[in-house]
Amino acid sequence: MAEHTFDVLVIGGGITGAGIALDAASRGFSVALVEKADFASGTSGRSSRLIHGGIRYLEHGEVGLVRECLRERKVLLRLAPHLVRPVPMYLLAPSAKARARYGVGLAGYDLLAVGRNVGVHHRVTAQQVRDAVPGFGGSSGGYRYFECQTDDARLTVEVARTAHAFGAVLANHAEVTGLLGDGRVAGAAVTDTLSGEALEVRAKVTVNATGVWADRVSALAGGAAADGRPRLQPSKGVHLVFAPGAIQTTAAVVVPAAAGDGRSVFLVPWDDRVYAGTTDTPYAGDLDNPTVETADQQYVLAAVARHFPAVTERDVVASWAGLRPLLASAEAREPAASEDLSRRHAVFEGPAGLVTISGGKLTTYRAMAEDLVDRVAAAIGPARAGRCRTRSIPLGLHGSAADALALARAEAARLALPPSAAARLVQRYGDDWRQAVAMIGAEPALGEPVIDGLPVLKVEVELARSREMAVTDEDVFVRRTRLTTRDASVRWPDTG
Ligand SMILES: Cc1cc2nc3c(=O)[nH]c(=O)nc-3n(C[C@H](O)[C@H](O)[C@H](O)COP(=O)(O)OP(=O)(O)OC[C@H]3O[C@@H](n4cnc5c(N)ncnc54)[C@H](O)[C@@H]3O)c2cc1C
Repeated sequence: MAEHTFDVLVIGGGITGAGIALDAASRGFSVALVEKADFASGTSGRSSRLIHGGIRYLEHGEVGLVRECLRERKVLLRLAPHLVRPVPMYLLAPSAKARARYGVGLAGYDLLAVGRNVGVHHRVTAQQVRDAVPGFGGSSGGYRYFECQTDDARLTVEVARTAHAFGAVLANHAEVTGLLGDGRVAGAAVTDTLSGEALEVRAKVTVNATGVWADRVSALAGGAAADGRPRLQPSKGVHLVFAPGAIQTTAAVVVPAAAGDGRSVFLVPWDDRVYAGTTDTPYAGDLDNPTVETADQQYVLAAVARHFPAVTERDVVASWAGLRPLLASAEAREPAASEDLSRRHAVFEGPAGLVTISGGKLTTYRAMAEDLVDRVAAAIGPARAGRCRTRSIPLGLHGSAADALALARAEAARLALPPSAAARLVQRYGDDWRQAVAMIGAEPALGEPVIDGLPVLKVEVELARSREMAVTDEDVFVRRTRLTTRDASVRWPDTG
């Protein structure tokens, strides 16, 4: 990285930075990306993992935003059908008023989704919810509609890998500690956080895609955001993971929060378990280590227990907390109710050579990247590069997921692996399920679980390091394999 001057240096290896690296590299720009910890170690590995049409934004009349979310959901279903999968959602409507409100909203949603819908909504009774979701103890019906779910950290890694395939140079555990240039930003001073080595990465345009850290990185430029006025107002959201069997459902359920604050809590199936969230509270603490506080846990648990009476605190086996990079409203720099703040993204240009992108959603990362790289291309010289191509670049799987699954099942049977292992390998590695199976074929022990009782296979640890730039055990077990979001009590083996 220190040997070249790149067209674009991206700071931040979350979904936003990875998406920008892919967009810019696939247009023909030379691209470097540096990430201070690990890919998706920030918000992009701590979300609700939904690729959603943004039905909630209809309440605020944000029709344009809903349209964008629906369009991007459809694009992602096509580009990464192994990683982005439809999930039915049961939206509970506890009163006639709520039923009427949701009914109108979902009708509008389906209308906006024409041509890009996963499935239309319909009314359900409480009994139908109980039939679909054993253990549901509520008395209200509601509506069934569809969203998509993903593994946010794996989606981020796959986008980063695809950027690399187009020539982008990526480094994790590489922190930007200063910006180069005098007046005009000309790249960044970077420290390898594992070795301590310092290097300078030069670029024509530097992109600050550091999520909730964006104000800090902008301030390094001594310009624009150095006026001290924060552009961001982070908001914390937590999720709890429930033990296998505590809540049995293959559909997601949206229940009203017990606090009576008008919010909803989502329960989402995740392999053999369910996670639930989230909270939404203004946050001013340590950006690197947001934690799940007792009050956060109680908020989510109360909503869950109200509708699933058998569930208690003892069923919680893991949790995570993430920070939303919400844009502070221009006039109200002081804390405001974070749900009112815009979920849109914004691009700030300046000082010369530095572009900052903030806000947005996992769902809309591709559109955000397109918007940003259009501006970067105009700055570098439009003649240099092609048009945005990311609507047609597959993210790790060419062809249909069903075809890949059928082939993988046959191969897995040949190696005496369970069908669930085949599905797991396709859903996590796309086309590279073949590589995983070949590795198991050569060394059968790689087909065994890393920890008895959990579905993570030993081959995944190998792939995390050889295929996905995992450097530390935390990279492997927290983000690549998601072992700790399944069960926080497991001690992972030292894989050096
Ligand atoms: C609780 C919660 C639930 C959510 N659920 C959903 C959902 O279901 N669907 C959806 O679409 N969206 C959801 N979102 C929003 C979505 O997750 C975020 O908008 C998105 O992940 C932000 O990505 P990012 O790349 O901008 O930020 P991040 O993922 O935080 O990436 C920024 C990166 O910059 C790195 N960095 C910081 N400083 C430096 C530096 N000096 N040098 C180098 N690197 C640096 C950080 O380490 C980090 O990895 C949710 C958010 C939260 C908090």
